[in-house]
Amino acid sequence: MTGGGRADGKRALFSAAVRTPGTLVVECERCRGRARISYTEFVKRSLPVTAWLPWRHHTRYLRCPACEHRAFVAAEWFR
Ligand SMILES: [Zn+2]
Repeated sequence: MTGGGRADGKRALFSAAVRTPGTLVVECERCRGRARISYTEFVKRSLPVTAWLPWRHHTRYLRCPACEHRAFVAAEWFR
């Protein structure tokens, strides 16, 4: 999963429809955009404050990669 410093950020720009190891797809509640980001990017976007509301569809609060606002997103770990 680590891959030794691959350019995951660059890959995320054009591989949103393709399943890629070490990445997940997030769907933004605010802009309805979907984007594929790496786990590292997911953690970075969650900082410095995050929330997890497991009873919602959009469970995670982080900075959306599509609209760059902080919003609740649904994370799809296995797609
Ligand atoms: Zn968004």
